[in-house]
Amino acid sequence: PEKISIENVSRSYESTRALADVSFSIEEGEFCCVVGPSGCGKTTLLRAVAGLDDPDDGSIRVGGEPVTGPGLDRGMVFQEYALFPWRSVRGNIRFGLDRPACDCADCEARVRELIDLVGLDGFEYAYPKELSGGMKQRVGIARALAVDPEILLMDEPFGSLDARTRDRLHAELLDIWARTGQTVMFVTHDIDEAVMLADRVVVMGTDPGTVQATFSVDLERP
Ligand code: ADP
Ligand code: ADP
Repeated sequence: PEKISIENVSRSYESTRALADVSFSIEEGEFCCVVGPSGCGKTTLLRAVAGLDDPDDGSIRVGGEPVTGPGLDRGMVFQEYALFPWRSVRGNIRFGLDRPACDCADCEARVRELIDLVGLDGFEYAYPKELSGGMKQRVGIARALAVDPEILLMDEPFGSLDARTRDRLHAELLDIWARTGQTVMFVTHDIDEAVMLADRVVVMGTDPGTVQATFSVDLERP
């Protein structure tokens, strides 16, 4: 079944047409990469799916429900990590769990599980400034996964990392994805990265942002 459906979405900023009539959908459990040059509207589209931006036109549905704002069914990972500098690794991961309805004992167990999942054992009490880029992004991924979201939205998550760390995190992400079975929408300008990670690639073009092609990938993953 379709998990994310994007229909005829358009978005302009003052004089810039960022997205023009963009339509495609992502199947449940699929790892979809959206690739295209800088400025083709990838971030705008991802933010719209996240409910952080409201398109001028068209509709976006997640699990059949129209997106009307941010929701706990969507986890977001950003290129520049966007961690809370005043919170430790644990504190950052707990962020999404700190809700009135949340049972503290369960939270603790969940944080442990996430720290294991992303390989941050021993760094629970470290602060973001003490961590390497790769470790920061592991915290970002764990925080996004904390609420067990149905979809994972990633905006060039490895764009600020060196090549070797990026390769490691690619493998780790695919490992995590194989275990969680989440639907992933992963935005990048790097076609090699897209082809290596994705089940399906959506290629966007610029000025204004439109879908140029979509193709399936049937390669062995790293
Ligand atoms: P990408 O993520 O593919 O680089 P963006 O979604 O960031 O593309 O941007 C698409 C277009 O919209 C670009 O031309 C960009 O300059 C413009 N744009 C993005 N955000 C804003 C904004 N807040 N105000 C004005 N123009 C914007
Ligand atoms: P938050 O960011 O949500 O305030 P922290 O993760 O910073 O939470 O801290 C969680 C708990 O762990 C707090 O009770 C804190 O006192 C304790 N703590 C913080 N740092 C350490 C440390 N280095 N060793 C042991 N306990 C710590």
